[in-house]
Amino acid sequence: MPHKVKEEIKSFKDLGLCDELVEACDSLGWKTPTKIQVEAVPHALEGKDLIAHAQTGSGKTGAFALPILNALLDFHSKQGYKSAPIFFALVLSPTRELAIQIASQFEALGSGIGLKCAVLVGGENIMQQQISLGKRPQIIVASPGRLMDHLNNTKGFSLHELKYLVLDEADKLLSADFEKALNDIFNVIPRDRRTYLFSASMTRNVKKLQRACLRNPVLIESSECCTVDTLKQQLCLMPSKYKDCYLVYILTEMSGYACMVFTRTCYATRLLSRILQNLNIRAIPISGQMTQQMRIGALNKFKSRECSVLVCTDVASRGLDIPAVDMVINYDIPQDPRDYIHRVGRTARAGRSGVAISLVNQYEAQWYLLIEEFIGKKLPKYDPQEEEVKLLMERVEESKRLSLMKLKETGGAKKRRGGDEDDEDIERYLGVKGKPSKFGKRE
Ligand code: AMP
Repeated sequence: MPHKVKEEIKSFKDLGLCDELVEACDSLGWKTPTKIQVEAVPHALEGKDLIAHAQTGSGKTGAFALPILNALLDFHSKQGYKSAPIFFALVLSPTRELAIQIASQFEALGSGIGLKCAVLVGGENIMQQQISLGKRPQIIVASPGRLMDHLNNTKGFSLHELKYLVLDEADKLLSADFEKALNDIFNVIPRDRRTYLFSASMTRNVKKLQRACLRNPVLIESSECCTVDTLKQQLCLMPSKYKDCYLVYILTEMSGYACMVFTRTCYATRLLSRILQNLNIRAIPISGQMTQQMRIGALNKFKSRECSVLVCTDVASRGLDIPAVDMVINYDIPQDPRDYIHRVGRTARAGRSGVAISLVNQYEAQWYLLIEEFIGKKLPKYDPQEEEVKLLMERVEESKRLSLMKLKETGGAKKRRGGDEDDEDIERYLGVKGKPSKFGKRE
């Protein structure tokens, strides 16, 4: 049956999906397909490879999960449940958190059809992962390094029957960071497969794309530099010495908002969280320096709204789906405009509204000009009364002095005792103290 033209697609049924999946979307409360789902799913159902530029929050996980599940169900109905290949699809993700999230969307969509999904990511127990592979899951969501670990060391595990490969955040996966692991993976999976590349920003480097061995892929362009219309983006210019005050001012003005504050360094996440906590703002840091257990703990505190401010590095900018984020603040404006897109994409997801405010001091103007050029529009100013902001100066400075002192003390204690008191403080706060993860390493 020829597929409907895009304008005619109003429902999941119109996309050409089977009834089980239409029902699954309905039970998740997905009423109509999102733009990327409308654009990607019909091509995928025709058996095409895809390169999709899809912004975060656009429903891109559904856009690749639905056709894969449709193909799996097709396989079941034509050849019987038992003859369907195990390890039917592999989804690679550059971060652990994103992998966990992708798997939970697969599981939600596949809950009515007995779908099994294994997550193979670093920082988690290898044996448990081996057990989950032993259950013969149809879907594997993995980070490249840990997947290779299993391919080399887990008896009986191979991907020679794989039918689908997805690279989520493909631009990151095709970068030098993952080159070795990805080449190793490409060498052990069948060439005869479908391949989907999904990313909010996409490399134009043809050589890199060729490595993914796509076959006549359909290119789905939702302009690389777009942000959603429901996102209100603003710029706040200030002298550098008032930056902390402006941050506290905005968080106080917008109190009640769930907010992510992005900084450049792990140290800054700790310092800023302490400064804010001293001022009775419920902030929690998350960075690559924390153990996996602490990171999940911090995310959960934020998701449950126990903490209203998540102070993070770019570890949290890619792919994390935290539905209730109302505001993103760039405390440090990113130097790569693509990071800006990823960060602000944490809010205004799936049709909701959101605010993104970027704090820019006299030394950072060049970076925001790059961003404006990239997104093709001028950011309007967020311009509070400077006098009102300055009223906060004394309290913020005092809190900063105390926080710096504390971090210096705990840093000194770390050297003396070989432990990290600041980590211990965070662990106590998260309630994970005393339960160190065996594989929880610091990156
Ligand atoms: P993603 O871009 O894949 O990270 O998805 C962002 C969020 O949108 C997730 O919470 C999904 O559950 C949700 N979502 C995906 N597709 C739809 C849809 N068609 N309608 C409503 N929500 C959706």
